[in-house]
Amino acid sequence: MSKANERSDVSHASGAGPGAPASERVGGSGGAKPPAKIIDGTAIAAEIRADAVPAVQAFTARAGRPPGLGIVLVGNNPASEVYVRNKVKAGSDAGLWVDLQRLPATASLAELLALVDRLNASERHDGILVQAPLPDSMGKTGSQQVFDAIDPDKDVDGFHPVNVGKLVQGRAHLKPCTPAGVIEILERSGVPIGGRHAVVIGRSEIVGKPMAMLLLQRDATVTICHSKTPDLPSVAARGDILIAAIGRPGFVTRDFIRPGATVVDVGTTPISDRALVERIYGPASPRLETLAKRGSVIVGDVHPSAAEVAGALTPVPGGVGPLTIAMLLKNTVAAAERRLAVNR
Ligand code: NAP
Repeated sequence: MSKANERSDVSHASGAGPGAPASERVGGSGGAKPPAKIIDGTAIAAEIRADAVPAVQAFTARAGRPPGLGIVLVGNNPASEVYVRNKVKAGSDAGLWVDLQRLPATASLAELLALVDRLNASERHDGILVQAPLPDSMGKTGSQQVFDAIDPDKDVDGFHPVNVGKLVQGRAHLKPCTPAGVIEILERSGVPIGGRHAVVIGRSEIVGKPMAMLLLQRDATVTICHSKTPDLPSVAARGDILIAAIGRPGFVTRDFIRPGATVVDVGTTPISDRALVERIYGPASPRLETLAKRGSVIVGDVHPSAAEVAGALTPVPGGVGPLTIAMLLKNTVAAAERRLAVNR
């Protein structure tokens, strides 16, 4: 199940991010501190995707077929359509065989589980991803039932309980794409993790918890915060690394940031309320133009004022989102290689 993988912000590029006007990125403090370095997630993702191409070619030569990724889309949620389109394109561009399987919004959970079973049994599908959200009619436990049904060796989202257990034990083969992408961002940007204090805001199964585990495995001292954490700004401000994965636009203001900290913004909330966008980014923000054109903009959890204090931060869009797709490709190749090795 791919709630994590649904968040490519590529298609929502709004003019913010690395190329955004300094006024929006820095928050206009006018202070002496140089603006925070903006980490270019799109460029890092491009590196990872480029690295995947020779591995795909080598696999194809050895196996006589490309690595196969099955993507299941139930219904026609407009955001999901965009996310899936981006995944199909990125996979195909990297040389994968991408098989998009669609079910109508009226499909039952039993029909979806039967499709997952068919993909589990297929020789050509090395990875399986079911795009979230599922229709409400599939019930509250529908997503969990789908996570549980996917063959753990094909679980390119890394959400199957077997893969979650292996992640906790530090021996995961397939790691959840978004937190694994955050680690790539930190490592490829030269941000030290070992011995540093990392604060993760958010404790979801798909982002916050696996994020904390991956940081712990790299020897960070990790604090996990959530909606019941008292005095959140001062706890967050202890972090050399601050990861915001909350889903509350502009929530993390400068008060949450330790001077010089690296701030990773996982949040992606589509906003169509002009007043809210203006309140967060100011009346001169190019996001207002994007909003007028597209009807919504994607907004992160981190407020622009964070740039007045942070040493480096990831933008939204153009930060974590592109990494999520890149890690999906990486996981698909890893799953394919492993299946080939086991079947020989
Ligand atoms: P989620 O399942 O809704 O979890 C949100 C977490 O934030 C929960 O643990 C919640 O705490 C915590 N939280 C909510 N309000 C808070 C507050 N006021 N103070 C402190 N903590 C608070 O969301 P998710 O699936 O982890 O996603 C989080 C965000 O990341 C969303 O915006 C999502 O769209 C985005 N995302 C982006 C990508 C990407 O590729 N860029 C991938 C996945 C998700 P409780 O547990 O106490 O309720």
